[in-house]
Amino acid sequence: MTTFRDLQLSNAILQSLEDLGYTSPTPIQEQAIPHLLEGSDVAGQAETGSGKTAAFGLPLLERVNPELQQIQALVIVPTRELAVQVRQELKQFAKHIPNLKISAFYGGHSYRIEEDSLVHPPQILVGTPGRLTDHLSRRKLDLKHAKQVVLDEADKLLEMGFEEEIDTLMAALPRERQMILFSATMSAGVKELIADSLKAPEFVQATASSV
Ligand code: ADP
Ligand code: MG
Repeated sequence: MTTFRDLQLSNAILQSLEDLGYTSPTPIQEQAIPHLLEGSDVAGQAETGSGKTAAFGLPLLERVNPELQQIQALVIVPTRELAVQVRQELKQFAKHIPNLKISAFYGGHSYRIEEDSLVHPPQILVGTPGRLTDHLSRRKLDLKHAKQVVLDEADKLLEMGFEEEIDTLMAALPRERQMILFSATMSAGVKELIADSLKAPEFVQATASSV
């Protein structure tokens, strides 16, 4: 059986996983994490509950530099509930990494609080497409250092009609970036999004929702 240690994760991350009682990686984590640590683009399909947040989140945490106060990773999610939840989960994984800041921007949240958080930018920003593009048009958000980008629940992002916002966000990101897309289903739209925004992606898939 593969362990998290076999996946070459740092001691800080291994400690937080132990604190959380995660004993071994789920199939999607086991498949995605090595590719992500190598810097490849990854497209992953796995059903709800299969552990996709850690699959993309652990490599993000390994690859950002806590010494630099720049947004180095952007996680785009379809709903505010998911923004709050993903941020919370990433914070738990980052518990033993000093100086790592993770913020969440989403509709209904205070613009003032969000803009204040950009004075000392987080290394990881989680957000919904509408709110993130609002900050871009207010010229408050600088994404030029966001070299890791996650499209989480890509099927839902498209169902909710966020294509234009996603295009706007992509245009604000650096050209050289690692793209990660996770989805519960591979609709035609999701396949098109993968073809348009990922470079030579590794495909990972897990059908069992065994955690
Ligand atoms: P998905 O995004 O695929 O729907 P989540 O990432 O939200 O799934 O994970 C579902 C649940 O499983 C969460 O409660 C999470 O904390 C838990 N979980 C994820 N990975 C593991 C693991 N390796 N061991 C134990 N529990 C895990
Ligand atoms: Mg998820």
